[in-house]
Amino acid sequence: MDSFPAAERHDFPAGDGVPLQLTRYRGGAKGPVMLVHGAGVWSGMFMLPTVRENFVQFLVRHGYDTWLLDWRASVELPVRQFTLDDAALHDMPAAVKKVLECTGAKSLQAVAHCAGSATFFMSMAAGHLPDVRSVVASQVALHHIVPPSTHLKAMLRLPDVLDITRDYLTPDEDPRSPLFQAAFGTLVDLLRHECDSTVCKRLTFMYGQLFRHARINRETHDRLDEQFGPCNMLTFRHLAQMARAGYALGFDYGREENRRRYGREKPPSYLRAEHLKRPITFVSGAQNGTYMPASTELTYEWLREENGASYYRRKVLPEYGHLDTFMGSTASRDTYPVLLDALEAMA
Ligand SMILES: [Zn+2]
Repeated sequence: MDSFPAAERHDFPAGDGVPLQLTRYRGGAKGPVMLVHGAGVWSGMFMLPTVRENFVQFLVRHGYDTWLLDWRASVELPVRQFTLDDAALHDMPAAVKKVLECTGAKSLQAVAHCAGSATFFMSMAAGHLPDVRSVVASQVALHHIVPPSTHLKAMLRLPDVLDITRDYLTPDEDPRSPLFQAAFGTLVDLLRHECDSTVCKRLTFMYGQLFRHARINRETHDRLDEQFGPCNMLTFRHLAQMARAGYALGFDYGREENRRRYGREKPPSYLRAEHLKRPITFVSGAQNGTYMPASTELTYEWLREENGASYYRRKVLPEYGHLDTFMGSTASRDTYPVLLDALEAMA
């Protein structure tokens, strides 16, 4: 690609001081658009070197001032224990503020994926993101519906058990705990037979089926370890709690601590629609094996009921799963145009 803009790196602190990063590609006058990655990955998921055209190249080609956020879940940042409440409160507002400061824009658009989308919506629903003008929510927003037959379901109680001994889970080889990682590899090699990559099978165990193998090319599959890394156990526990509840709620610390923090025994719900009166497009892969398409359908229907139908759209991507929406070898033909249409329609 000729004259692709150089990366501009912007370091900034979250509201509680945690160091975060934004990377800007000045693609033109549209946007600014901020891309928010999921858990256990980093902003590189939008900028794969192994596909003909990745999502950032696509947006730049269409004239977007494109900002990649690395929030505290990024595997490019040091592993830390955090709840999604922490990131909703401290990361997303600081990131939006930074983009607006640097660009002089009054508002921005966002494309948020998976746990990044879940956190972004928690932040919006709590009223922390008034300057976000429109959003594309990839795969999940405020309702968390996981497939009954996947290993994510099996994981639901496991994070609580593992948290006693483990700070994080990672799909990669891990020099810090080679024995655990070898045992984890042996376990998933016994359980999973879809391919011969132990990294890939550890991923499926951690998150459910992240992509349809038919949708990603061999080089992307061979280099999965460049995209994925540790996910801390506190985040896993919070995601599991929300999957059990079926919707976004504050971290459940147990009755006593909940009473101290929240003034009640149960954690509070994030299902508050008043701050979500803005254009939102929900996108789900029809074959998603991590979050079922019902996840976005429920948030979409709930918001239409609460705020009226005019703000909201929903697209289901046939033949696509979860992360192949962004990492698929022909995603620039199949799924990026759908995301672009959404951004343009909500400009
Ligand atoms: Zn595989």
